[in-house]
Amino acid sequence: MRDALRIGVLAVQGNFREHVAMLRRLRADVVEVRKPEQLEGLDGLVVPGGESTAIGRLVHVSGLEEPLARFEGPLLGTCAGMILFDRRHLGFLDVEVARNAYGRQVASFEANVDLAGEEPIRGVFIRAPRVEDVGTDVEVLGRLDDEPVLVRQGRVLAASFHPELTDDTRVHEKFLEIVREAVHVRA
Ligand code: GLN
Repeated sequence: MRDALRIGVLAVQGNFREHVAMLRRLRADVVEVRKPEQLEGLDGLVVPGGESTAIGRLVHVSGLEEPLARFEGPLLGTCAGMILFDRRHLGFLDVEVARNAYGRQVASFEANVDLAGEEPIRGVFIRAPRVEDVGTDVEVLGRLDDEPVLVRQGRVLAASFHPELTDDTRVHEKFLEIVREAVHVRA
């Protein structure tokens, strides 16, 4: 087996730097992705938070739309990244998401996310998407007040909060575990 997993972080807009730093801390070989050819040879890809409309537009003008839609490796999407994975966008995740929809709360807040059988994780929510419907193939791994905020569908992991903004590396470790399994199956 190769030593380091090669992980791309979509770096057209948003807080990709924090993902890069966290993945490097976890000893991944990280590539900032701004052009289609940078998707080649990746073991996994992260789509960060930011502004989903801006990311979508920049993905389009960079010629990344089709190569991204064809990407077959594991994916981690946070916040805006989760929005881009949903039914209405790339369709990687069978979820219905409402943007900026934590209406009764201030637009940004921190709260504990309940994880089944584990210590809660501190979630930083920044104008976060609200998951309003999940398909039957979607596994809910984390909840805030009973609503899904961390979900998995096969190779796709997505959080409506920002795990890259705290010191807790568990979401990224989980993602690297999914990547490692996929690399194993391919080998
Ligand atoms: N509100 C942003 C959107 O709708 C997402 C916010 C974020 O990624 N922090 O795209």
